[in-house]
Amino acid sequence: MRRWKTRRVLLVAGLAAALVTVPAAAQDATRISAVATFSILGDLVKNVGGDRVDVVTLVGPDGDAHVYSPTPGDARKLAAAKIVFVNGLGLEGWMTRLIEASGTRSPIVTVTNGITARKMEDEGEPGRLVIDPHAWQSVANAKIYVANIRDALATADPAGTAVYEANATAYLARLDALESEVREIVARIPADRRRIISTHDAFGYFSEAYRLEFIAPQGVSTEAEVSARDVARIISQVRKQKIPAVFLENVSDSRLVRRIAEETGAKIGGTLYSDALTDENGEAPTYIDMVRHNIRTLSAALTS
Ligand code: ZN
Repeated sequence: MRRWKTRRVLLVAGLAAALVTVPAAAQDATRISAVATFSILGDLVKNVGGDRVDVVTLVGPDGDAHVYSPTPGDARKLAAAKIVFVNGLGLEGWMTRLIEASGTRSPIVTVTNGITARKMEDEGEPGRLVIDPHAWQSVANAKIYVANIRDALATADPAGTAVYEANATAYLARLDALESEVREIVARIPADRRRIISTHDAFGYFSEAYRLEFIAPQGVSTEAEVSARDVARIISQVRKQKIPAVFLENVSDSRLVRRIAEETGAKIGGTLYSDALTDENGEAPTYIDMVRHNIRTLSAALTS
C-alpha cells in the first residue's frame, strides 16, 4: 500500500509540474500578432514590437505592393491578427477588398497619418494629380511611421506600452543617425551631377528631402504602361542634360532602363531598392540597410 501511495504522490507531483508550465505558455500567448502589408513596413513594425509582436508580412521581399494579388491565406492572416498596419496613400489598392473578405474587426492602422502627401502630375494624363505613396523614402517620414506604430501598438496592447516606447526611442535614434549619414553623403556629390534615371517614380520623397533629382519613365505606380513617347522624351533628356547614370529597381522590369542606357551611353549605376526589401542574404534586408545601400550606390555612380 505504501508503494501505491508513493506512486500516487509522484503522479500528483508530475501533474503539478505540468501545470507549472501553463503560465509560461500563457505568457507566450500574450504576444500579439500583427500584419503589415509589405516588407518595409513589416521591418518597422518588428523594430517597434520587438519580442512582444509576431509580424506577418503580406507582400514579401522583392514583391511589388502596387499590383499584388491577395490569396485566401492572406485573408486568414488578417483574420488572425490583432492589429493590421497599412501604408495608405493609395499604395495598397487591393487591401479594401481583402479586409472585407477577411471579416477582421481589428484596428487597421494607416502609418502615413500626419505625413504631408506629395502630389504629382500623372505621366499618362497631364494635369491630373496623383498621390505619391512612397513616403517611407524620406527618413523623416519613416520616423512618423515609427511613432504611429508605437502609439497603435500601445493602444492595442496597453501592457506593452513601456516596451514599445523604449524600442521606438532606440530605433528613432538609429534613424536620426541614418538621416545624418545620408545628408553627409549627398553633400559630397557635385550639384551638377545630382540627376538620376530610375524606373518608376518611387523616389519623390527622397528627392525632395535630399535634393537629388530623379527622372522616371514610369509613374508612381508600376501598374501603368510606359509609352514610346515617354521613353523618347527621357532618352533626349539624358543626352541633353548629360545625366551620368541610370538605375535598376528590384520591383520593376529592368528592360526599359537597360534600353535607355544603351541608347544614351549613360552607365547603369546598380540596383535601388524602392518598394521592397530583399531577403536576409540580399543587399537590403532591413529599412536601414535599404536607405544606406541606396545612397551609397547613388553616390558611387555619381561621383566616379
Ligand atoms: Zn512604387
